Amino acid sequence: MTDLKSMNLPELTAWFKERGQPAFRAKQVFKWFYRGVTSFEEMSDLPKALREELTEQCIFTPPKVARKQVSAQDGTIKYLWELGDGNCVESVLMRYQHGNTVCISCQVGCRMGCAFCASTIAGRVRNLTPAEMVDQVLFAQMDSGAPISNIVLMGIGEPLDNFDTVMRFLELVNHPDGLNIGMRHISLSTCGLVDQIDKLAQYGLQLTLSVSLHAPDDETRSKIMPVNRSVGVEKLVETCRRYFETTGRRISYEYAMIDGVNDSDWQADLLAKRLRGVPAHVNLIPLNEVEESPLKPSRRVAAFQKRLESHGITVTVRRKLGGDIDASCGQLRRKAMKENERNSPEYRKK
Ligand code: SAH
Repeated sequence: MTDLKSMNLPELTAWFKERGQPAFRAKQVFKWFYRGVTSFEEMSDLPKALREELTEQCIFTPPKVARKQVSAQDGTIKYLWELGDGNCVESVLMRYQHGNTVCISCQVGCRMGCAFCASTIAGRVRNLTPAEMVDQVLFAQMDSGAPISNIVLMGIGEPLDNFDTVMRFLELVNHPDGLNIGMRHISLSTCGLVDQIDKLAQYGLQLTLSVSLHAPDDETRSKIMPVNRSVGVEKLVETCRRYFETTGRRISYEYAMIDGVNDSDWQADLLAKRLRGVPAHVNLIPLNEVEESPLKPSRRVAAFQKRLESHGITVTVRRKLGGDIDASCGQLRRKAMKENERNSPEYRKK
């Protein structure tokens, strides 16, 4: 079965040409995808015979809303999508003054193993396809009626561990006949895969690269982020410096504040020292507690922020949205997985 929705326009054009169809069919189909149709049957300006042929030969499995939680506090919506093969991923729609933002997933699970993160607990099941990534934006927009102007790749999974898919996804959402969302309205977050950061730099995209740093010293970072055990903080920050030099885009560093782990003054001082000389922005994230993890939120966020600012670093503290609805990444999927386990015949036997 062919996945036409994951193709770009030139590939789609070639595909139709090979089947003796005129090139304009590709554009018609491409446009229909982004109008959010859920079957080839709905593509009313295609000949009926072609629609039938496409239905037979191509996959078209839009995600189903498996669960949906709406925050009573701020209108944040969390979606748990069921994909064509029964796997589930999450997206979160947040309403900001500067526009509606959707945070999407790029893998089913994650293999990076960060100690504080719910998405990685059961490992990685598989990569998403470009279409499955696009659909999270498209169907969140259609379900909520909220036009999406910004996308963040900060849901389940490591975007640079699914590199080619993510690049294709960016091309599709950026395309004028696709979702037409500008690169400057897209953020990509990575745990710091240095080779892939170098590779990404070569594309010179105007998106915002967020790097999940979470600690300025190797001892702490290796403890909470296994990815640091092979490439330490120094090399990561060097890579970020190169990224800035190549793309001209300032890096945003994410720093989840964990009680007694990464929130001391000496760590603020070391962080400032590491970032000296390159335009950077530090985003402090109050830790979301994950049931399976003993890590607790820091009580020193304001003090840490002040200390960083005293060194001339630009710092923001992430506003907590959807606190009443498990809105941090991976939590809803975990919860659904655990409930399904409890309802399964094997579990009931116990
Ligand atoms: N794999 C990518 C993107 C996914 S997570 C990355 O590592 O950047 C998006 C951000 O949320 C990352 O900075 C991640 O470290 C952070 N995060 C994960 N679990 C968290 C938690 N329980 N509390 C606060 N931030 C968390």
